[in-house]
Amino acid sequence: MGALPSILDPRSIIVLAGIMGLMMALVVFFMRRSYPPSIRGLGEWALAPLVAFASTMLFAGRGFLPDFVTIVVANFVLFQACILYYAGSQKFLLGRSDTRGWTILNGFLGLAMFWFSAMRPDFEIRLVLVTLAVSALFFFHALLYMRHRGEVFGKRLMTGLLLVQSMVAALRFLSALAGMAGESLMDVSWIQSLYISMYSFTVLLLSISVILMATDRVHTEFEYMATRDPLTGALNRRALLDACRAAFASAGRRRAALLMVDLDHFKEINDRFGHLTGDAVLREAVGRMQRAIGDAGLLGRYGGEEFVVLLPDANQADAMNIAQRLKQAVGEPLAANSPNAAGPSDASESPLAAVGSIAVSIGVAAGEAGQRVDDVLARADAALYRAKALGRDRVMAAA
Ligand code: GH3
Ligand code: MG
Ligand code: MG
Repeated sequence: MGALPSILDPRSIIVLAGIMGLMMALVVFFMRRSYPPSIRGLGEWALAPLVAFASTMLFAGRGFLPDFVTIVVANFVLFQACILYYAGSQKFLLGRSDTRGWTILNGFLGLAMFWFSAMRPDFEIRLVLVTLAVSALFFFHALLYMRHRGEVFGKRLMTGLLLVQSMVAALRFLSALAGMAGESLMDVSWIQSLYISMYSFTVLLLSISVILMATDRVHTEFEYMATRDPLTGALNRRALLDACRAAFASAGRRRAALLMVDLDHFKEINDRFGHLTGDAVLREAVGRMQRAIGDAGLLGRYGGEEFVVLLPDANQADAMNIAQRLKQAVGEPLAANSPNAAGPSDASESPLAAVGSIAVSIGVAAGEAGQRVDDVLARADAALYRAKALGRDRVMAAA
């Protein structure tokens, strides 16, 4: 193919790519400082382009620095950068990372690089080994994202990049096998230029997808926090009432029902077992109610130990059924092995088992679309009041 214009000279591309990577590393590093620690993986993702930059500098020293540095060390460092990206993804998606296997592989790769540069110099074999390893690592990295797919653009970009990068490395691997390796890394062959340009764009785009993914996650977390009750994870009052208003205003819907649920004698539980046990009981009750409701509706904490269930499309009979199911679920004995039962230090000191069991009273009101939420709520509340007056632990329909 001969020489392409000098702007595609590999050394310039390598250096420019390295500088871009360095700037992206800075961006991700500052993001990490301002983002909540629940967004994991940013540390690795900030470090990865830095390490890639270091490898870039080593590669660019070809001819000035000893081969051991520009071949063995440079390749080792570059592969370590790829591993760091992978570790970041593992932390981001799974909460933990384990890349020991890949690091060990990198060690062996380093030995091979040494052997085929100092002992039996062979650029072709080196290229075959490196491209195979890189292709495999990017492919496994892409697989991780395919298993944790999402609608987020950053995730799709990431998956696409990793796949393309894996394919480009595989192509380079095949071309090397076919005897098209060229003489050295600095060869101005079109395939070498393509390979190195891909790499530089990938460093830039990987950081961009990382930033998009992390930003999206922060957004999702804040949105979640803004709509949830922190103690129980149920919808908070504002989100609940918003959902109720939307349900009753919805033009395509004919009806919806509301349940007003109040724990019986809850003050006694606080008085006898303490506020922390009371909190654990609330969490357990919410978990049970949520399982009983399933996809049929939304549960929100209206205040204290009072909850409202919104049942879109439910008529009075449906709502009564669900209310009975809910009452039964909450009334089951509080076993020591429930997920919310664990004490602060020792599960055997579970505070919930001591409570025994709890009961709820429920008022049920079905409404037509177009009705005011406050009116339907008031009817459910009146029914709840009657359930309490009649002795609690029961479901009452609104008049
Ligand atoms: P009733 O059967 O009539 O509903 O009796 P009750 O004791 O459940 O009703 P009351 O309204 O008198 O008491 C509610 C108690 O709920 C009082 C309050 O301390 C407690 N409570 C409200 N919010 C929380 C909370 O977040 N954690 C705990 N532990 N207790 C709470
Ligand atoms: Mg109560
Ligand atoms: Mg109450």
